[in-house]
Amino acid sequence: MSDTLRDHIEAWGGESVVISYDSPTGTWMFIALHDTRHGPATGGTRMKTYPAIEDGLVDALRLGEGMTYKWAGVGMPFGGGKAVLATPGPLDDDARNGLLDRYGELLVSLRGSFRTGVDMGTNPEDLARVDRGVGTVMGIVDGHSQDPGPYTALGVFVGIQAALSQKLGSPSLTGRSVLVEGVGDVGRPLAEMLSEAGAAVILADIDPGAAKALARRIGAEVVAPADSHETPVDVYAPCAVGATLNPDTVPRLRCGVVAGSANNQLLTPADADALHERGILYAPDYIINAGGAIAFGHMAGGMDARSELEAEVRKIGPTLTGIFVEAAVAGQSPFHAAKRLAERFLDTERGPRE
Ligand code: NAD
Repeated sequence: MSDTLRDHIEAWGGESVVISYDSPTGTWMFIALHDTRHGPATGGTRMKTYPAIEDGLVDALRLGEGMTYKWAGVGMPFGGGKAVLATPGPLDDDARNGLLDRYGELLVSLRGSFRTGVDMGTNPEDLARVDRGVGTVMGIVDGHSQDPGPYTALGVFVGIQAALSQKLGSPSLTGRSVLVEGVGDVGRPLAEMLSEAGAAVILADIDPGAAKALARRIGAEVVAPADSHETPVDVYAPCAVGATLNPDTVPRLRCGVVAGSANNQLLTPADADALHERGILYAPDYIINAGGAIAFGHMAGGMDARSELEAEVRKIGPTLTGIFVEAAVAGQSPFHAAKRLAERFLDTERGPRE
């Protein structure tokens, strides 16, 4: 292993990393098992082509750690983990299916220490193929993998309402403007819900055709992704890639609230403080985007009625309100209050890590 990969893993603070090279496709598989104090490591599988192998590893490490905080933040008994399949470029269907089959075998060899689901670049059909009835994938019902996107979108929607209440005194979306960056599995249903609730929705996506088609359907506007940060709106909802809150973008934002589904929205924790100093309310990503995880966690426990699952997801609203209030009292970014909430759960339930 190169010194750089080793440095990243040693500096990480998680429990273990499984690395496998799939020679038929040239794909590196990284499974980051971050913290299993509360249960088996559980998190999605991302398939993506990275500029360098090291970037795929770093993504898996950051996402795996994020899952620890996500499960702890919503008080659910799962551990943090995430998988990245770092492909060398686009794969044809045969190559992709072969990769998914071999990835499924790798998960079986881990004997239950990692359970997964969809993430960027994978879809429910892919995950049903990975699982093959073995039980390594969460949210499989009658052999079909469920889509977490609508549950995640519902969590973001109630999170936006909680943030508007905190910032502007009312959860109402009527007449509020929301920019949804990324119109994929989460951004699309989120934009639909916002539009139905009376918000003026603005869409930005690197796939302009997808943004325009959705905009036509729901009566939204479209802006170029390069303009998403400088567009004046009440809420900026990042629902695409991570690290869009950084020293370059935060000074340019023209919104009152940042509340979206993307994982790892902050480049570093200092960006949360920079948002706070600018008076922009930040809804911590791993709390507001936990809807899919909450629904799938409850499905694993036997809950199957959609209305019951949605009621669990809606609890993200009051959880965020508690975080916003604690943050306001402390005069800090909600980032710190969310971290304290998750760490209280991690430490008090099972004791600090050895
Ligand atoms: P997706 O792959 O279905 O959609 C992502 C969309 O973002 C695509 O339309 C893509 O064209 C667009 N996009 C990519 N890069 C962009 C950029 N730089 N600017 C603007 N648009 C861009 O992904 P998804 O499942 O909707 O997930 C979106 C984000 O939410 C990801 O960060 C994911 O990790 C996170 N998330 C998703 C879920 C879920 O249930 N799917 C749960 C928690 C967190």
